[in-house]
Amino acid sequence: MSSIAFVSVGKRYGEVEAVTRLDLSCAAGEMLALLGPSGCGKSTTLKMAAGIESVTEGEIWFGERPVSRLAPGERNIAMVFEDYALYPNMTVWENVAFPLKIRGITGQPAAARIGEVLQLLGLRQMADSHVKGLSGGAQQRVAIGRALVRDPEVILFDEPLSHLDADQKVQLRAEIKRLQKLRQVTSILVTHDQTEAIAMADRVAVMNHGVLQQVGAPQELYERPANLFVANFIGEPPMNLMTAEFTQGGRITGPGWSAALDPARLPALTAGSDAVVAGIRPENIAVRAPDMAGEARGTITYREPRGDADVLTVALEVPGGPGGQLVAEIAGPSPWRAGDRVALGIDVRKLLVFDEPTGRNREARA
Ligand code: ADP
Repeated sequence: MSSIAFVSVGKRYGEVEAVTRLDLSCAAGEMLALLGPSGCGKSTTLKMAAGIESVTEGEIWFGERPVSRLAPGERNIAMVFEDYALYPNMTVWENVAFPLKIRGITGQPAAARIGEVLQLLGLRQMADSHVKGLSGGAQQRVAIGRALVRDPEVILFDEPLSHLDADQKVQLRAEIKRLQKLRQVTSILVTHDQTEAIAMADRVAVMNHGVLQQVGAPQELYERPANLFVANFIGEPPMNLMTAEFTQGGRITGPGWSAALDPARLPALTAGSDAVVAGIRPENIAVRAPDMAGEARGTITYREPRGDADVLTVALEVPGGPGGQLVAEIAGPSPWRAGDRVALGIDVRKLLVFDEPTGRNREARA
C-alpha cells in the first residue's frame, strides 16, 4: 500500500478553477473522504488521482512515486463508481475475473484470488449469476470485488452508494469499511453525504469552491470546525449560527440571548474585530421550564419528534423586536409542545466563535 499526497495541485477548465492549490494527503492504509456540496471539486480531485484528468499544476504522489504524468493504467489504482460499471451480460465470477484476465492472470492463480474475494464479499453463492439480475447492493459488491481482486495500491470510490436504497446503503457502508480495514488498502471516497463520510472514513476533507476547508477526523470536524462553512456543513440538524458581540463582564450577547464565557477562552475569542458569529450545536442547548435559569427565553414554534430525540425550534424573546430562533435537540419523546414557553440553557463550553467576515473559528489552529 502506498500513501497519496496532493502537493499544490490545481485544476482549471478554461475559466473555471475546479481545484485550487490543494495540499492533502492520505496515509497508507487510510480511508480519506472528500466531502462537499455539488461542484466543490471533489470528483475532479479523484479523477486527477486516477489519471482520468490531468493536473494543471502541482504534483500527485503515490508513496515516493510522482504519478501526475502517468496514464491511468500505469498507476495501479482501482475505481468503484456510483453506477457500478459492470459487464451486465457476464456472470459475477467473470466480472471479478476481468481485471486479472486483461493482465494475463488466468487459471488456478486467478481462480484462487477470485474465490477468496467472492468469499470475502459473501458472493460465493452468486458466482454464476448474471449481474444484470442482481440488486443494486449486490452489483456494487461485485464492483468492489473487481476492485479488490488484483490488490491495487489505491482504491478510489466515486459516490459508491448513491444509487442504493437506505437499507443497502447502511449495509454496504459497513461492508466497505470492514474490507478496507481488513485489506488495509489506501482509499479515497468521494461523497456529498456527510453521514457516509463520517461513518466510513478515518479522516474527512471538506471542500468548497475548489478549496480545501479542513481535514481531520470526523469528531474533530464536528467539535472544532475551522470555519463557518465546515460548521454549517457538518451536523444535522445544523449548528445554530447567530450574530453576536462581546459585552460587559466577559459575556457574549446576541438578539434574545446572552452567555458568560470562560475567562480562559476570552483572549483568543476577543482577539480581532467586534463582529462575530456564535455557533452552538442543537444538542448543546438544554430546554427548561420558563421560570428556570437560562441564557435565553422563548416559545417553541415547531417540534419535530425523531423517536429518541425531539428537535425543537424556539423563537427567542427580544425586548421590542423580533428575535432570532434557536434549534435544540433533546432526548425524546419530551413533554414539550409547540406554543410552550421555555428557558434555554446554552452550554457555553461548547459555544464557538467565528470571525466576520472571514468565517474563521477564532480558536482554530492556524
Ligand atoms: P463535485 O464532484 O464536487 O460535484 P466537480 O469536481 O465535478 O465537483 O466540479 C468542480 C467544478 O469544475 C465545477 O464548477 C464543474 O462545473 C467544473 N467542471 C468539472 N468538470 C468539468 C469539465 N470537464 N469541463 C468544464 N468544467 C468542469
